[in-house]
Amino acid sequence: MLHISRLAHQRTVASLARSSFRRCKSSSAQDAVRSLKDGDRLHGYTVKRVVEIPELMTTGVGLEHDKTGAQHCHFARDDSNNTFSVMFRTTPMDDTGVPHILEHTTLCGSQKYPVRDPFFKMINRTLATFMNAMTASDWTTYPFSTQNQKDYENLMSVYLDAVFYPQLRELDFRQEGWRLEHEDPNNPDSPIQFKGVVYNEMKGVFSDSMNIFMQAVQNKLMPNHTYGVVSGGDPPAITNLTWQQLREFHHSHYHPTNSKFVTYGDLPLERNLELINGNYLDKFDRINIDTRVPLEPRWSEPREANITCSRDPTGTEKQTTVSATFLLSEVTDIFESFTMNIICTLLTDGETSPFYQALLQENIGSDYAPLTGYQGMMKEAAFSVGLRGISSDDVDKVKDIINTTFDKVISEGFDQKNIDAILHRIELSLKHQSSNFGLHMALNLASVWNHDGDPMLALQINKQISQFRQALADNPNFLQDKVKQYFKDNPHCLTITMEPDKDFEEIRTKEETERLHKHVSQLTDADRKVILDTGKELLAKQMMAEDINCLPTIHLDEIERKIKPEPIETMTMGGVSVQKCAAPTNGVSYLRMVSNLASVSDELKPYIPLFCNVITRSVLSPFKAHHTDDNTYEQGVMFSSHCLDRNLEKMLTLWADVFARPDLRDNDRFLTLVNMTAAEMSSSVVSMGHSYAISHSRAGLTPAGFLQEQFSGMTQLELLNSIVGGDPESVFKVIDKMEEISKCLLNKSNLRVAVNTTSESMDTTLKSVDGFLSLLPGDALTSNFLTKDPNYKVNESLTQFERPFSVNYVGKSFLTVPYTHEDFSRLRVLAKLMWAKFLHREIREKGGAYGSGAVCSDGVFSLFSYRDPNSLKTMEVFDEAVKWLCRGDYTHTDIEEAKLSVFQETDKPVTPGRSGISQFTTGVTDDMKQTMRDQLFQVSKKDVTDVALRYLKKGQRSNAVSFLGPANETVQQDKRWKIITS
Ligand SMILES: [Zn+2]
Repeated sequence: MLHISRLAHQRTVASLARSSFRRCKSSSAQDAVRSLKDGDRLHGYTVKRVVEIPELMTTGVGLEHDKTGAQHCHFARDDSNNTFSVMFRTTPMDDTGVPHILEHTTLCGSQKYPVRDPFFKMINRTLATFMNAMTASDWTTYPFSTQNQKDYENLMSVYLDAVFYPQLRELDFRQEGWRLEHEDPNNPDSPIQFKGVVYNEMKGVFSDSMNIFMQAVQNKLMPNHTYGVVSGGDPPAITNLTWQQLREFHHSHYHPTNSKFVTYGDLPLERNLELINGNYLDKFDRINIDTRVPLEPRWSEPREANITCSRDPTGTEKQTTVSATFLLSEVTDIFESFTMNIICTLLTDGETSPFYQALLQENIGSDYAPLTGYQGMMKEAAFSVGLRGISSDDVDKVKDIINTTFDKVISEGFDQKNIDAILHRIELSLKHQSSNFGLHMALNLASVWNHDGDPMLALQINKQISQFRQALADNPNFLQDKVKQYFKDNPHCLTITMEPDKDFEEIRTKEETERLHKHVSQLTDADRKVILDTGKELLAKQMMAEDINCLPTIHLDEIERKIKPEPIETMTMGGVSVQKCAAPTNGVSYLRMVSNLASVSDELKPYIPLFCNVITRSVLSPFKAHHTDDNTYEQGVMFSSHCLDRNLEKMLTLWADVFARPDLRDNDRFLTLVNMTAAEMSSSVVSMGHSYAISHSRAGLTPAGFLQEQFSGMTQLELLNSIVGGDPESVFKVIDKMEEISKCLLNKSNLRVAVNTTSESMDTTLKSVDGFLSLLPGDALTSNFLTKDPNYKVNESLTQFERPFSVNYVGKSFLTVPYTHEDFSRLRVLAKLMWAKFLHREIREKGGAYGSGAVCSDGVFSLFSYRDPNSLKTMEVFDEAVKWLCRGDYTHTDIEEAKLSVFQETDKPVTPGRSGISQFTTGVTDDMKQTMRDQLFQVSKKDVTDVALRYLKKGQRSNAVSFLGPANETVQQDKRWKIITS
C-alpha cells in the first residue's frame, strides 16, 4: 500500500499539477545529451548508457556515481516542468511503520535547514508544481517538479539535505510517530493518551474496510519477507517503535549506496550532477548494505484466509468481500509484465470482459473487490479478482465463477476486437500529454528500477507492443497459454474472505485501551514527569516563532506579471456555440460538450449523475458556478472524450449513437451500474470525507452549492443507497426517469462545444464536428445558458453525519463573493495565510489531525480538517483562526509568502489538450484572469485584515458547519445540531 505523505492532502484540494511543454522540431534538451557515450565521466559519475525513447520524445541517460554507487537516470525532454526525485529501497521487517514514520520525520528539519518542517515552510517559498514524499511497501521516494530553474535548485538543496542530513530529534519522532501525552498537555490530571501524526493517520487508514482488505491480501500472499508486514504501520505495533530504531533505519537505508535518482526535463544534466555530487554524494563512501528482497517461496497448494471488518451501518445486508489473488512473474521481466498487464486488463476491464460479464452482470455483489486487476507495485506482480458487497452465502458461488471463467477463457480465448482496443488505448495514452509528465515517469519506473530491472526498457513501450504482436502472430494460443500457466496451473493463489463483525470496533477499542493501560501502568513518577514535560515542550515548540530565513525562496519580483493568454476563438455551427483552440496536441483531438440542465425538472435533477454513468461510463458530470453573481450560474454536464486524429469520425459516430438512442431499458445492466456507483461512492467517503463535509456545508449557502451537493455529496450517496436497497419495481421507475432526462439533455438545444487539436488538423476536425452536430435532434438555442435564482434563501445549518469512523472530517463554509469581486483576490491570499500560519499548527501539529485547509472558491470560503481525532475542538480552532486574522497578528513577509502560494496554484502549467477549457467551463476570461493577477500583487496586510472582519468574523456573513464522524455526546445533547444516521 502506498502512503502519500504530508502534502498529499493539500494537493488534492488545490487540484493536481499539469505539465505543459514546448514542442519544437529541434529538440535542444535531447540534443544536449545525445553526444554522451558509454564510459564518459561527468562530475563524479560514469555514463552507463544513452537510450532513445522516441515514443516519449525523450532521450534517457543511465549513470552511476563512482564513489558511492548511487544510480541515476536522466530523461532529457523539451518540457519546462522539470522533475527531480530521490528514492531509497526501504524494506521493513516489522509492523511498526518505521519507513513511513522516517519519511515524516525526515521532513522535520535538517543540518543546513534546521527549521521545523522545511517542506511545509517551502510551500510558501516555491513555485513547485508538485512537492511530496511517498512510502510504498518497499521504497520511499521524494519527488518534486517546478518550471523555474532557481526554484529547482532551491528545492533540490532542501530535499537532499532532508534525506541525507535530517536532524531526527526525539521530539520530532514523538510528534510524527507516537507518544504518550495528557489529553490536555498542560493538565497532569487529564488522562494520558496515545498521540502522534502517523499513529492517527494509520488509524484513519484502517478505519476503511477496503484498506484492511488490501493490506491483508498483500501480507498473506507474500508472508515471507518485507511484504508480510505493514509498511505504513499497524497502530498496535506503531507504539513499539523506539527513536533508536528509527535512527538505525535511516542510517542503513537512506544512504547514497542504496539510492536512485531521477532527473527529467529541459535543465542540463551536467548542472544536476554537479550539484548532487558536489554538495552531497561526494561526502559519502560506499557502504556494504544489501536491501534486496528475496523471491517469495512458491506454494505447492492454494491457500485460504478469513478476516473481519466493521459493519457498515449505511449498507445493506450484503457486506462480504471475497477475492482470489495469484502471484505472477517478477516485475523486472519487462515483456512478461507487459503481457500479463494486458491479459489482466482483458480479463476484467469493460463491459465485454469475461469477469465483468460473469461476476458483475450477475448482480451478486456491488462491485469488484479492491485490488481487482494487475498489480505491479512489488517485486513480483499479482492479479486479483473478486467481488465486494455480496451475501455471505454467495462466497462459494463467486469462487466457482472465478474458476469456470478461467476455464472458459482458456478454451475460447479473447475477442480480437478487445485486444486491438487495448493496444490502441496504449498508443493513445502515449500521445495524450498527461499532467506532470516527469513525475509520472519517475513513479512509473519506481517498482521495476527498485528491484534492479531496466527502467529504460520499461519505458520503451513501442518495443513491447511489437514483441507482443509478434508473439500473437507466432502462436494464436499465446494468451490462452499464459492464462493457463498463471491462473489454472498456478498453486500460489490466495483466496481471502472478509466478513463484517459487529464487535469489530469494540475489539479494536479494547485492544487500544489495554495497550494504553499496559504502558501507563508501568510508568514511574519520573516517567510521568517526562511525559508532562515533553507534552509541554512540544506545545511550546509548536508555538515558537521561528526564523526561517535559512530556507531559500523565490521572490514576488521574480514572478511574471502577465498571464499566458489562451488562444481560443468562438463560433457557431448550425446554431451551436463552438469554442476552438489550436494547440500542439501531438496528433490527438479533444472534444467536450456541455449540455445545459435548466430544462430538467428539480425532481429529476438528482438522477443526472446516474444518467451520465448509464449512457457512457467515461462521462464527467460537473456542474459549474458562474463568476459574477452568487445566484446566477450555469447548470450543466460535460461530456468529454479524446482520440487519435485519424479516429475522429469513429468517435463522433459513437457520440451520435449515444445522442440518438441511448440504451436505457437493460434492467440488469442498469442495476449493475447503480450497484457499482453506490459502492464506489461509499468507499470514497472514508478517503475523501473532507470533500463531503465541505460540499454539505456549502449546500445551504448558494444555489450552485446546493446542486453540487445533490450531484456529488452525501445526498447523492443516500439516493444511490435508497435505489440499491429498494424493491425491483422502484428500480424500474428510476429507469423511467432516465428516459425523461435523456429527452431533455441529449438534444442540440442545450449544447455548447469545445474542440482542442493541432492547427493543421483544425479545419478537418471542425468539418467533422459540424457534420456531427447537424445529425443531432432539436434546434440550437445559443441565447442564454445562465440560471438566475434571485429568490434563493440561505439556510444556515449544523449537521453531523454519524459514521462508525475513528476520526472526523469537519467542513465549515462562509458566504463570500464571486470571482470578479475585488475582495476575491484578498480572500485567496487570506486562505493561504490562514492555513500556513494558523490552521496547520493548531489542527495538525497540536490537534493530531492528518490535514487541514482553507479554500477560497467562487462565492464561498471553506475551512476543513481531514482524519481528525477532534470535531468540536476543531470548530473552536476555526473561530480562533478568524480572531487571529482580525487581530492582524502577522507580518508583511507572511503576506508575501501567502501570495506566492496563490501564484503556485494559478501558474500551474496547462496541457495542450486542456488549453482554454477553464474558460469554456467557468467563463473566466483572460481579461478577468489578468485583473485577478494585478489585484493579487497589490493585496496588503490591511486588505487581509479587512476581509477577515467583513466576511469571516462572527455575525458578519451566513455560514454552515457539517462533519462526518463517530457518535458525539455533546452534539447529541445540543438541539441546534441535526444528526443524520443511516
Ligand atoms: Zn503519512
